[in-house]
This record gives sequence, C-alpha cells and structure tokens, in this order.
Amino acid sequence: MTPLTVVTGGSRGIGAATVRHLATAGHDVVFCYRRDAEAADAVLRDVTAAGRRGLAVRADTTDPDQVVRLFDAARQLGEPTGLVNNAGVTSPVGPLQDLTLTDLRRVVDVNLIGYILCAQQAARRFPSGGAIVNVSSAAATLGSPGEYVHYAAAKAATDALTVGLAKELAPRGIRVNTVAPGTIDTDIHTISGVPDRAQRVASRIPLGRAGRADEIAAAIVWLLGDGASYTTGAVLRVAGGL
Ligand code: NAP
Repeated sequence: MTPLTVVTGGSRGIGAATVRHLATAGHDVVFCYRRDAEAADAVLRDVTAAGRRGLAVRADTTDPDQVVRLFDAARQLGEPTGLVNNAGVTSPVGPLQDLTLTDLRRVVDVNLIGYILCAQQAARRFPSGGAIVNVSSAAATLGSPGEYVHYAAAKAATDALTVGLAKELAPRGIRVNTVAPGTIDTDIHTISGVPDRAQRVASRIPLGRAGRADEIAAAIVWLLGDGASYTTGAVLRVAGGL
C-alpha cells in the first residue's frame, strides 16, 4: 500500500525538499503552508511528476482548527501514517534581553505549540504503525547565544517532545524521532535578518559548509521508512559535525 505522509511547511526550504524526496521514495504527500500558494503549487507539480498523489492545504499550524482541517483534508487521499513536523520560524537575531514579547510568543507558538497540535492529531488518527519526525535544530544543544536563545529553547522542547511521545506511542507501533539540522541554506535566515548566514558560518562548521535542504530531507525520509523500524526516541543530528 502507498504510504501517505503529512508535512507541515512544505512550500519552501527543508519542507519542500522533504515533500519532493517523499514523492520520489513512493509516498503520497499532503502538505501545508501559510502564505505562498504559488510556491506550494510548484512543489505539488513535482509530486505529480514523480507519479504520486499530493495535496497542498493552506493551514497555519498554530491554529488548532486549521490543523484539524489539514488532517481532515488528508483523508481525501487515504489514511496518513506519517507526519513531518517541519513548519518553523525564527525572529530577528539579537541578545535575549532585546527580544520582544511578540517575537517570543510567535517562535514558541510555531516551533512548539504547532508541533504538539499536529502530533496530537497524528496520535489520535494514526492506525497501528506509523512514524512522526520532528524537525528540531542543532541550536537545541548549542544554545545560539547572541542570536536566538528563545528559538534554541523551543527546539530543545521539541526534542523532549520526541523522547516522551516515542515512549507513549511505542505500544501502538508509532515511532517518533527528531532530525536536528545545523545551518541549512534556506530562506529562514532572511527572516532573522541575516540572509547570507549560510555563507557566514561555513568556516565554523567542521565539514566546511552549510547544509542543503535535500540533505535534511534524506534523513527525514529514512526515519519515516522501514529502514528505521527499530529507531524511536532518537535525535539524529545532521549538522556537518557541529
Ligand atoms: P523556511 O525556508 O523559512 O520554510 C518554512 C516553511 O514553513 C515554509 O513553507 C512556510 O510557509 C512554513 N511555515 C512557517 N510557519 C508556518 C505555520 N505557522 N504554519 C504553516 N506553515 C508554516 O524554513 P526552513 O529553513 O526550511 O526550516 C524548516 C524547519 O527546519 C524549521 O522547523 C526550522 O526551525 C528548522 N531548521 C532550519 C535550519 C536552517 O538553517 N534552515 C536549521 C535548523 C533547523 P509560508 O512561506 O507559506 O509561511
């Protein structure tokens, strides 16, 4: 049977690369995005070109009703058994003391509450067997001082979510894992006000460069598949040695 996987934030960056990899690996894919319908359409066309079925749903993962609508929409294609919690945001870089309450709430809302809302739907709806991958960050252990400590803290919380939920759902055969990327060359750094961050940090990374979205997608797809059948509660760091 063709697996059906839900990906949050699939219109750009790591999420878009994951949707494309999943389609190539034989998954049908339902993904959500918030703003950029044109970008979502382009990703959807690639799913179809890979011979798989896809659906793009405009849904904000911080809104419980929209999350329910995303999972309801997925039923058009079948019963999902996979979830990639990927939709995440940063805020402008700077020391914690300058952080605004609005930015703090947004970062926690998207990177933590949104992940939990989606994980709840998966836990309620997945049959026996399935897999959840939470996209965290190497920031969770590095702490990101002077840049976005609050973001790092939210990402560390998603790692704890992985550990606890993996144990809670193991009796039902649902595996839960994290992929923790290092610096990856995507648009997210523009939101932080450092569009060239990937180039700037390259010399600090043992492998000497920032990562590509498809290198994270490959790890996510592996964790969703049968090759990872005994892997649950794991945090897989894909960070070029950082
Ligand atoms: P990105 O290029 O900015 O893409 C983010 C995606 O998420 C977009 O499709 C965006 O859609 C969507 N999105 C954002 N907020 C959303 C919401 N509330 N509801 C639904 N969709 C939402 O980011 P990225 O670099 O690919 O990051 C993906 C994940 O990897 C994030 O969790 C991020 O924290 C994590 N990560 C990234 C890096 C890195 O260096 N890039 C490193 C470590 C971890 P719209 O454009 O429509 O809003």
